[in-house]
Amino acid sequence: DLADIGVTGLAVMGRNLARNIARHGHAVAVHNRSSQRVDDLIAENGDEGDFRPSHSVEDFVASLAKPRRVIVMVKAGPATDAVIDELTPLLEEGDIVVDAGNAHFEDTRRREAALKEKGMHFVGTGVSGGEEGALLGPSIMPGGSRESYEALGPILESIAVEVDGTPCCTYVGPDGAGHFVKMVHNGIEYADMQLIAEAYDLLRQGLGLSPAELADVFDEWNSGDLESFLVEITARVLRHTDARTGRPFVDVVVDEAEQKGTGRWTVQSALDLGVPVSGIAEAVFARALSGAADQRAAVQAKGLAGPTGGALEGADAEGFVDAVRQALYASKVVAYAQGFDQITAASEQYGWGVDRGMMATIWRGGCIIRARFLDRIKQAYDADPHLASLLLDDYFASAVADAQDAWRRVVATAVHLGIPTPGFSSALAYYDGLRRDRLPASLVQGLRDLFGAHTYRRVDAEGTYHVLWSGDHSEERQDHIDQ
Ligand code: NDP
Repeated sequence: DLADIGVTGLAVMGRNLARNIARHGHAVAVHNRSSQRVDDLIAENGDEGDFRPSHSVEDFVASLAKPRRVIVMVKAGPATDAVIDELTPLLEEGDIVVDAGNAHFEDTRRREAALKEKGMHFVGTGVSGGEEGALLGPSIMPGGSRESYEALGPILESIAVEVDGTPCCTYVGPDGAGHFVKMVHNGIEYADMQLIAEAYDLLRQGLGLSPAELADVFDEWNSGDLESFLVEITARVLRHTDARTGRPFVDVVVDEAEQKGTGRWTVQSALDLGVPVSGIAEAVFARALSGAADQRAAVQAKGLAGPTGGALEGADAEGFVDAVRQALYASKVVAYAQGFDQITAASEQYGWGVDRGMMATIWRGGCIIRARFLDRIKQAYDADPHLASLLLDDYFASAVADAQDAWRRVVATAVHLGIPTPGFSSALAYYDGLRRDRLPASLVQGLRDLFGAHTYRRVDAEGTYHVLWSGDHSEERQDHIDQ
């Protein structure tokens, strides 16, 4: 009587994932480098299901039914390689190793290729929802071979959270696709949080609303188009009062945002792919700016010229709360459109065939960016799987059209008051950039041709050209002149 699946790495995530699997009626083998975690799990949660504890990797592997399914849930990076190296000599062809940690997708591609050579399947999977999600139902984004999903999918789908009867788990695509999509999910989460923070800042500085009043505003927003986990918890955080001082909690927290790195990975990848994810990039940079404590202190000490907020009055204040809501919504559409563009570009580059509508579907529950909004994204990609931009979908195009007067007003007001809104502003610049029939990139090309002979193309003829800038300014055709 062998176990259906195994989990090695029983820190908070692995332990909760194993408990979730056991609670769904699967026999789960459990193992951890240091045995104490195994014993703790059995002592504290052993009655929740059919656990098969092992204190050695050999026993762990021997306790699994074939093809063996092993979930590795250890610290991302070298620890994952160490565990894979320990496991693989004990495994056979057809066995499946699942990395459910937050690996970089390039590492996943490398590991998948290495295990494939041994005839084994390697599944890099995104798992979202933190420790609570792991226990109660995460959103799961598995990559790897389709064949491995046949063996693995039913168990993963059984432990994933469900929305409208659909599990938030689906096969994403070959090799690193699962971890890539999880990475972009985290990047979008960065952008979404930055936009929410800007909305808060604008209303607090611009209208002088208190955190408690703003909690009510976010609560109200959560009953409309913006309904989402992040907006919901924004209200909770803003309403929270610090027990020690009686002050609004948000005022006793140091204003330096930290990052574990997935946002940075997303932007690095976007740079390689050449996809403008300005919303995510601005969010990563805003965190970097907030964390530049010494530089900020030096600026505070000297003081740099410019407006420092000040409340809006009269007509300027009228309708401003709703204008910010609309600006938030429009900026959010842009940030998500950019994130999905990045998934599209990677899917094409690596041949993954990612179904974008399905990604929106499995992000509706379990994960941090879960939102009503994702239903709309799913509908958009279902209606047109080849949609060139989410902004072109009829629903989003008209939603942004309706919001844009407010959006422009909010960005203009922010600039006027000196309130930094890199997310709102860059989203609007992106939108306007896409709309323009002629961009000043023509001038950039002209400059590149002058200083570097980088050549240019003409609007009215085929070919590439160069002007003899240091000669008689005549134009020379540069391509296939000899043919
Ligand atoms: P940690 O990232 O803190 O990793 C601790 C676990 O890794 C322990 O089981 C530890 O074993 C094991 N480990 C570390 N080095 C080695 C090694 N060289 N050989 C064998 N085992 C090793 O645990 P978490 O539970 O927080 O996260 C697990 C994974 O899940 C990570 O990749 C993380 O990025 C990812 N993740 C985490 C989320 C979260 O909210 N925390 C959300 C989604 C994903 P030992 O007990 O012996 O030290």
